[in-house]
Amino acid sequence: MPFDPAEYTAALERAHAHATDWLASIPTRPVRPTASADELLARFKTELPDGPTDAAGVIDELAAEAEPGLMAIPSGRFFGWVMGGGLPAALAADWLVSAWDQNNGLRFATPAAAAIEEAAGAWLLELLGLPSTSDVGFTTGGTTANMVGLGAGRGAVLSAAGWDVNVGGLQGAPKVTVLAGAEVHSSVELALRYLGLGAPQHVPADGQGRIRPDQLALALAEVDGPVIVALQAGNLHSGAFDPIGECVEIAHENGAWVHVDGAFGLWAAVSPRWDADLDGLAGADSWATDAHKTLNVPYDCGVAIVSSPEAIRNAFSVHTSYFIQQESGPADPFDLVPELSRRARGIPVWAALRSLGRSGVIDLVEGLAQRARELAAALGQLPGVEVLNDVAFTQVCLAFGSDERTREVTANVIADGGVWMSGSRWAGRDVLRISVSNWSTDAADVAASVDAVRRAMR
Ligand SMILES: *Cc1c(COP(=O)(O)O)cnc(C)c1O
Repeated sequence: MPFDPAEYTAALERAHAHATDWLASIPTRPVRPTASADELLARFKTELPDGPTDAAGVIDELAAEAEPGLMAIPSGRFFGWVMGGGLPAALAADWLVSAWDQNNGLRFATPAAAAIEEAAGAWLLELLGLPSTSDVGFTTGGTTANMVGLGAGRGAVLSAAGWDVNVGGLQGAPKVTVLAGAEVHSSVELALRYLGLGAPQHVPADGQGRIRPDQLALALAEVDGPVIVALQAGNLHSGAFDPIGECVEIAHENGAWVHVDGAFGLWAAVSPRWDADLDGLAGADSWATDAHKTLNVPYDCGVAIVSSPEAIRNAFSVHTSYFIQQESGPADPFDLVPELSRRARGIPVWAALRSLGRSGVIDLVEGLAQRARELAAALGQLPGVEVLNDVAFTQVCLAFGSDERTREVTANVIADGGVWMSGSRWAGRDVLRISVSNWSTDAADVAASVDAVRRAMR
């Protein structure tokens, strides 16, 4: 079949129309989907078609059938889990990424994609105040970014103990101890499973879920051999930040590699407002964050940052002999992530940062936290509502009396459709958890959300 640009035009015009219809529906549609996955499956799992259908027709059918099963994650009234929306420049750039279809692995083969990602990485280091010589890899998300940071650390601490994990693997290797706070995110534990390091040893945390430095010091004193400390910037429930500077100092005195999971909380580093909370952040060895959360680029995009280019490239490069020749030069994109073939997912990050500028990124992050404080203040005034956390960043945990009552209100909130908030369990209680992560959440969304919770309490 010949390459016919007109066929693309027809299909892309339909996709453009459906995308803009979807976005136009966001302010007024229910946030929740109106059909279940089983109902959607019945629409899509028809007889396998015997022959071809034209591309534009497929796009029309896809959009029409999917519509009732879509969650309005781009809505300013979506507060579930920790999920951002898509900034206009980032979303549009993501379309170009698909059209360009660059397999961003090698600098010489896909120079535009490699260069744009390198530029985005440099901007991120500057905004976050991290060492400018760090390597930055664009991953599928925070989980894989955690795996990259911890994987670089695994190789480095074993190498310091005289063991080359790339040759010997973990069988027969010195034991690597991983210490993490009691409220470590499950994705760090998942990343440790991928890496064959097993479950971390949990260090007690305080009432906001922050690792306790005194307890970390005690735990480190018991460890003999290679050790990794996994810290957290941004607790899923409270938003709190581990005392990173203090912990980095203790950990480094003990020869540990320090990784920081900052899937959403690392973004606080862009604003002086959180300087005290994040003091010492730049002294860690690796950091993971998400661009698809706080930065509001479309799914999927995480960011792995490692201060030692040697450590990340030793762990993830597929041509370490080539690396030796290029020791001081930029890495090829596939040297910094677990994949070989991959989407140029750093390009929407460049577009987001290019469109916001430094002040726009600061306003975005400070604005999310401001909305969280407004929601906490207004909801905390409703009779019988308790705000359980110090609202340090973008997260708010609410209880409505008994666990049963909290679960009932949570179910009502979701069924109402005016907002979406997640149920969870924290500090021994059922909670209704709010994460303000969408760039577009404004004062009207806050007011509408308070009304929705009020309705759900009746
Ligand atoms: C979301 C999140 C992760 C995992 O990130 P994904 O992008 O979902 O893989 C890790 N840590 C924290 C604190 C998170 O909020």
